[in-house]
Amino acid sequence: MLNNAVEVLQNTFGYHQFRNHQQAIIQALLNGEDALVLMPTGGGKSLCYQIPAIVRPGVGIIISPLIALMQDQVNALTQLGVRTSYLNSSLTLDELQAVERSLIAGELDLLYIAPERLIKERTLNLLSQIPLALFAIDEAHCVSQWGHDFRKDYLSLNILHERFPTIPRVALTATADARTRQEICTRLALTDAQHFCSSFDRPNIQYRITLKDKPRPQLLSFIQNEHPEDAGIVYCLSRKKVNETAAWLCSQGLNALPYHAGLASDIRKQNQDRFLRDESVIIVATIAFGMGIDKPDVRFVAHLDLPKSIEAYYQETGRAGRDGQPSTAWMVYGLQDVIMLRQMMTNSQAAPQFQQSEQQKLEAMLGLCEITSCRRHALLHYFDEDSGSHCGNCDACLTPSELWDGTEAARKVLSTIYRTGQRFGATHITDVLLGKKTAKIEQVQHDTVSTFGIGKDLNDNQWRSVLRQLMARGYIQLDPEGYGGFQLADKCRPLLRGEETISLRKEKKQTRQTRQINQGVSNADTKLWEALRACRKHLAEEKGVPPYVIFHDAVLMEMMARQPGTLTQLSNISGVGKSKLEKYGDAFLEIILQHCSASPRQAQPISSNQTDGNDPDTLSVTAHETFALFQSGMTVENISQQRQLKESTTYNHLAAAIKLGLVEATDVVALPEDEFLLIQNTLAEHGDEQGNIRLAPIHEELGGIYSYEILRCIRAAM
Ligand code: ADP
Ligand code: ZN
Repeated sequence: MLNNAVEVLQNTFGYHQFRNHQQAIIQALLNGEDALVLMPTGGGKSLCYQIPAIVRPGVGIIISPLIALMQDQVNALTQLGVRTSYLNSSLTLDELQAVERSLIAGELDLLYIAPERLIKERTLNLLSQIPLALFAIDEAHCVSQWGHDFRKDYLSLNILHERFPTIPRVALTATADARTRQEICTRLALTDAQHFCSSFDRPNIQYRITLKDKPRPQLLSFIQNEHPEDAGIVYCLSRKKVNETAAWLCSQGLNALPYHAGLASDIRKQNQDRFLRDESVIIVATIAFGMGIDKPDVRFVAHLDLPKSIEAYYQETGRAGRDGQPSTAWMVYGLQDVIMLRQMMTNSQAAPQFQQSEQQKLEAMLGLCEITSCRRHALLHYFDEDSGSHCGNCDACLTPSELWDGTEAARKVLSTIYRTGQRFGATHITDVLLGKKTAKIEQVQHDTVSTFGIGKDLNDNQWRSVLRQLMARGYIQLDPEGYGGFQLADKCRPLLRGEETISLRKEKKQTRQTRQINQGVSNADTKLWEALRACRKHLAEEKGVPPYVIFHDAVLMEMMARQPGTLTQLSNISGVGKSKLEKYGDAFLEIILQHCSASPRQAQPISSNQTDGNDPDTLSVTAHETFALFQSGMTVENISQQRQLKESTTYNHLAAAIKLGLVEATDVVALPEDEFLLIQNTLAEHGDEQGNIRLAPIHEELGGIYSYEILRCIRAAM
């Protein structure tokens, strides 16, 4: 059965090999066992149930709370030739009955279903009448009452075990700490399930966190420099800020749309649809946006405000780069963020215990912002995962911080906080240190405290940086009433007593990172890239699906790198399965061939820098030029004249192209079919054991009427 699974992977999905634990998970399900799958977003969970559902007899039932996504999933699978449908409340009675009929008739491989519908007696009865391949419980953490995504109906899903004890079940999630994992197993009666936990690392995401200085220009220059034409999400804390930021980005010429719970639902839907269907839309959103957004080519997630926990940060940034292509998680933050979040928590009606745990999570988030070591390492460590201490793809690794001895400065700050009564915020503390005679200082007579003006060696920003770092490391804390005043924490005593030193991070100048996505794309290739994208967009509009359902960016990039010349070559590209090859192969080939003839120098079948023509997998530059002219319709004679080549050389170039499958031999040597076949047969008879064919004896045998060039071209095709 595993062989069948590999075949489906390659033929239906067009992928070369399994990722992560996919193979082991599929094997377990094929064996009829249960499984619990923890994989980060973009890890490839869907294949884990889609393939066994196709391979095993009967229909695979996929339970998902994300009704809005079902249509897209069905569309995507239909494009692959997988027979898929869904049952949820958005269907009319007629549609519902049609799905039920095809279910009973055994015409479906996969059925997506909302939990509330599944647990209806009517549905369970229906399912008990037909052969079932498996149950997949997606977003399985929804069963946890502690989590943000709790769904009551998930609690009833243990009924599957009771009603269908022999059907294998797989629960999948991208967010689960040990406690949630335990809860999933207990509540879903998955006690015997094999556990498959993948690494939570998302290596293609570059993590960058910078100080908030002028947030809008910072954001604009980030987008313009690194992701000028990409889709991305910008997160803000409040609805007002979402509206303002979206409007501002538009005024700067970007394609930005707002999304938050305060917008009318049709506007929300419209904006979300445009984000999914157009290619370079930026969504500016509150955290209301995201759950169930399955767009694989989101190239950046930017935070203009601090998320309230590392869990939230991980989940939100995780929406970037599901397709595995380079993506950026970019954030600016400042002290003001912490104070605001803190106030929101204090003003909430939550139980004190809950508030305390929220507070700790916020502090952990702040810690992640302030660390000087690898962010990825810290992030994974938070989820109890061990990883190398230097990832090479976060700002801390790319541009390491300089440290300075902050002991003296820290003491000055701590004593100022103490001497001013532990109730003032950053501005006031800084003003005292700098010796500013503000109205407020005069009013409360803080120009008389002993630390007044002792901090003129640093500037305002440097003092704020010291305050932030002291808070992130737990030396000071904000007042519990939420006024934004600093208090000393117990941890600062040894530092104040001179028993401890502290080293602090110098704030970095904003550095520009180079644009990373499409980094292999030269200027000349940009044209081909744009042509491929335009072709994809056209097909997507025709089919009424988002462009990525046709092909992912990664597939287009590989097309660009390899520039396949035949359908067979195109089918070797990862992500091009049988069904898509049939539907779209010709359209994309045409674009590539047009490009080859328009700019021959860039037309390399395999991206490489060979120029000597010795590499068997590539054409030399000069052979390419010949090939491109030939593709544009010129004859061998014309090409030879124009390029001042011997005709035999031109033929040699074309023979190389034939060998790579870029062009058919029959197109190059214009011979009647019977003569062509005669030559081919004669060549075949003369091959030695290694398949080498010497041309001289054949030339002779055929009476010398066919030139060596012709023979060489036909041999190249064999
Ligand atoms: P998840 O549900 O875990 O977030 P998906 O199932 O949506 O992830 O997969 C993420 C992306 O990776 C999809 O675009 C999918 O087509 C692709 N993918 C999954 N498995 C493979 C594989 N074995 N080889 C190549 N691409 C894969
Ligand atoms: Zn790193």
